[in-house]
Amino acid sequence: MRHIAIIGSGPAGYYSAEAAQKKFGEDVAVDIIDRLPVPFGLIRTGVAPDHQSIKAVSRRYEKTNLGDNVRFVGNVTVGEDVSVAELQDLYDAVVLATGAPDDRDLDIPGSDLPGVIGSAAFVGWYNGHPDFRDLDPPLDAKSVAIIGNGNVALDVARILAKTEAEFAGSDIVGHALDGLTKSKIRKITLLGRRGPHQIAMTPKELGELGHLHRARPIVDPLDFPEECDDAMLEPGMRKSVTHLRSFYERAGELLDKPIQIDFDFFAMPVEIHGDGRVEKLVIERTDLDADMRSNGTGEYYELDCQMVISCIGYRTPPIEGVPYEHGRGRFANTDGRILPGLYCVGWARRGPSGTIGTNKPDGFAIVDAIAEDIGSGNGKEGRAGLDRLFDARGVEAVTFRDWKKIEEAEIARARDGSPREKFTDIADMIAARG
Ligand code: NAP
Repeated sequence: MRHIAIIGSGPAGYYSAEAAQKKFGEDVAVDIIDRLPVPFGLIRTGVAPDHQSIKAVSRRYEKTNLGDNVRFVGNVTVGEDVSVAELQDLYDAVVLATGAPDDRDLDIPGSDLPGVIGSAAFVGWYNGHPDFRDLDPPLDAKSVAIIGNGNVALDVARILAKTEAEFAGSDIVGHALDGLTKSKIRKITLLGRRGPHQIAMTPKELGELGHLHRARPIVDPLDFPEECDDAMLEPGMRKSVTHLRSFYERAGELLDKPIQIDFDFFAMPVEIHGDGRVEKLVIERTDLDADMRSNGTGEYYELDCQMVISCIGYRTPPIEGVPYEHGRGRFANTDGRILPGLYCVGWARRGPSGTIGTNKPDGFAIVDAIAEDIGSGNGKEGRAGLDRLFDARGVEAVTFRDWKKIEEAEIARARDGSPREKFTDIADMIAARG
């Protein structure tokens, strides 16, 4: 029998468990450990609440959990309740599928002012992550600056701009819906330090921005290269740029919408000013060098704004004793191998890139590596040893059956038309399992 512990119950964790089931059949026991009492990580608290079709992938993960050889072990913090070294003693393979939940630092003067928020916190707030339920973003802001030109920046802009009716069918948490419905926002500025051909936004997500009830995207045609240059882009990117160009072409028809979403390209925030809270952003104009890197031009201007949301990527938090690559914000690894018996997968392995589906081949590849390394197992004790250790320490894990009860309670308390109203407090989650 092979014993595998996976730390993290997001997409990378569940695809790895599914791969282990498929590869080893009944000859494997997998424990998926998570700090929260609820599974699915990024699917629950990262994917936007108005993207329910993406969230539906959790049904596939649920199937993985229905087999006897995969257990969900929730409400267990690795590093407090059990250490990585202890797990390595108990399991043939320990896989870190911890994602990249920390914001990359916005390292400019003023970034510690109230009203400057990282996307991990803001996305966690509207998605009901217990760590961010008390964020209280300053929604009295009339003008919001969003730094970054990736899909997270797009998610944040769309969520800020939507009307209450546009959240129908979503599982945005009640506190966020209340706050956003009362918000005073009239201007959202998306700041990209490079140009339209260097965005990291995918076409479907960008297209959505052109169909919001009360918001209109605005681009400056002077920021764009010649239209014939679009032909050199790969097809997905070309579609995204076509959407951007269409925002200009449709500008007239969108004029009556009261919220403007400005794409400000070649714009690098360099300082944030404010007396006790954000008041303005100082931005340096950039241009691109031959390698398409952005460089400051020495030309500066200011943007009045009362909230800044930095969407510039994420980092995996280091774990004591586990080799770490500081420059890239992920575990030091070769094709997922960190140390003998210790592996990483998903964003913890490759950094925060790709879609949910990218984690599937990652999960299957790490299980191939594990199969090569551990053969038919090393006679380790696995979950029986973990349960004994938890008994001795009084650690009470949440099971998948418990999660199903929590889920039932979340469904039962949903507002009309919404699939669920998430619990945002860990104590409430635990209480709901009965
Ligand atoms: P991302 O795609 O890496 O985009 C980060 C953006 O931040 C880039 O535009 C980058 O510009 C900019 N940036 C980085 N450092 C900066 C700095 N110091 N100052 C100014 N700008 C800076 O990251 P993400 O948006 O967080 O998304 C993470 C991953 O999740 C991506 O793979 C994304 O596609 C995926 N995701 C997908 C969906 C979806 O499919 N619906 C939704 C959300 C997220 P440069 O290009 O110049 O570095």
